[in-house]
Amino acid sequence: MRFDTVVRSGTVVTATDTFAADVGISGGRVSAIAARLPIENAGKVLDAAGRLVMPGGIDVHTHLDMPFGGTTSADDFETGTIAAAFGGTTTLIDFAIQYKGQSLRQAFDTWMKKAEGKAVADYAFHCIITDLGSAQLEEMGQLVREGVSSFKLFMAYPGVFMLDDASIFRAMGQAAKHGGLICMHAENGGAIDVIVQRALAEGKRAPKYHALTRPTTAEGEATARAIALAEMAGAPVYIVHLSCNEALEKVREARDRGLPAYAETCPQYLFLSIENFDVPGFEGAKYVFTPPLREKWHQEKLWQGLARDTLQVVSTDHCPFCFKEQKELGKDDFTKIPNGGPGIEHRLSLVYTGGVHGGHFSPNRFVELVSTAPARLFGLYPRKGTLAVGSDADIVVFDPDREETISARTHHMRVDYSMFEGIRVKGVPRTVLSRGQVIIDGGKFLGRRGAGQFLRRQTYAGV
Ligand SMILES: [Zn+2]
Repeated sequence: MRFDTVVRSGTVVTATDTFAADVGISGGRVSAIAARLPIENAGKVLDAAGRLVMPGGIDVHTHLDMPFGGTTSADDFETGTIAAAFGGTTTLIDFAIQYKGQSLRQAFDTWMKKAEGKAVADYAFHCIITDLGSAQLEEMGQLVREGVSSFKLFMAYPGVFMLDDASIFRAMGQAAKHGGLICMHAENGGAIDVIVQRALAEGKRAPKYHALTRPTTAEGEATARAIALAEMAGAPVYIVHLSCNEALEKVREARDRGLPAYAETCPQYLFLSIENFDVPGFEGAKYVFTPPLREKWHQEKLWQGLARDTLQVVSTDHCPFCFKEQKELGKDDFTKIPNGGPGIEHRLSLVYTGGVHGGHFSPNRFVELVSTAPARLFGLYPRKGTLAVGSDADIVVFDPDREETISARTHHMRVDYSMFEGIRVKGVPRTVLSRGQVIIDGGKFLGRRGAGQFLRRQTYAGV
């Protein structure tokens, strides 16, 4: 047997198993896994002794090159996928946005152009629907057949992204019919807008008011409503960026009743809290994203939710805006601060640190949360999300004991601050392969711009 590459002497970790093995790669795929593989004729041998060998991370929630509030998110598909790769993430699912009056096809084409020739690792798209007429309703089935098998809808941002309940209900029915999955931004946008207007009228304009005008009850209510609409439509539903216990309880109740309700959370809700706004001047703008940071006690509830499978996925909602010139657009008015934070690079290290070293779950559950469950839910499994013969050789050689400190001075995202500045992580990717090619090794990027491929995803099949 001849291999292009053998990853030797590591500990293979999948969502279900942990075992010592060599992994052989041929033609960009895993071609053998065995206790010992012959290396005499191998093109390359990567020593993984003392390290974990796991499937590449899958981040199902990123916003690269995205226009928002008069500016554009700071990472494009080149810098964003490079930063992701440094952090052990080898597949992204980004969002193609349909603006009012557009077809869904226009959204898909626009985002395909943004990624093509730039992404260094594989990518796919969800489609954000903001205007759902009968033509777009018809188009949903066509998009699913072309591999865009999930749609994101908003219950927040009235007049911009928000859909009414009737449109949401129609979209859910159509998604269910064609094997699509609805992803929901669950916050009661109408109530929040009233609270925001009241705050502005009272002269409350600092960044922290972004958080204080978006109560957890607004997220809990919308989460319950999204689940109820999905239940009536006979559709599965996936709640994005769940941030608080109220919403978590709604998902738990639904899953206890056997409904196909799923949810993700993000590292910022696990590591940061409303206390991050206790910084001088306008600096709180670094933490302005939606849903906002919550009181600290929610963090432990979210970790428990991840351990108990109330939450199935950790994504990042990576949507970076520089502090200078971009966040500063909202200097005198928090409603003008571009919403979003940079996180694509540190998901694996943060979740391993807090989840595994923090005693909440096993390395297997870690792999499930950052790779396997995302692949299954979004139609990429078993090509992505596991290490098995025939799977793409997207592989992370992970050092579970190495410690690093997160800082904007050393990160690879194209943004001038880090939300996680100064946080010490234990557990760091050392070597990263995308379809058999080493793209990160020893702190260096070795990949190629444009090497990433668009992934046509399968229809929804549950976890
Ligand atoms: Zn988002």
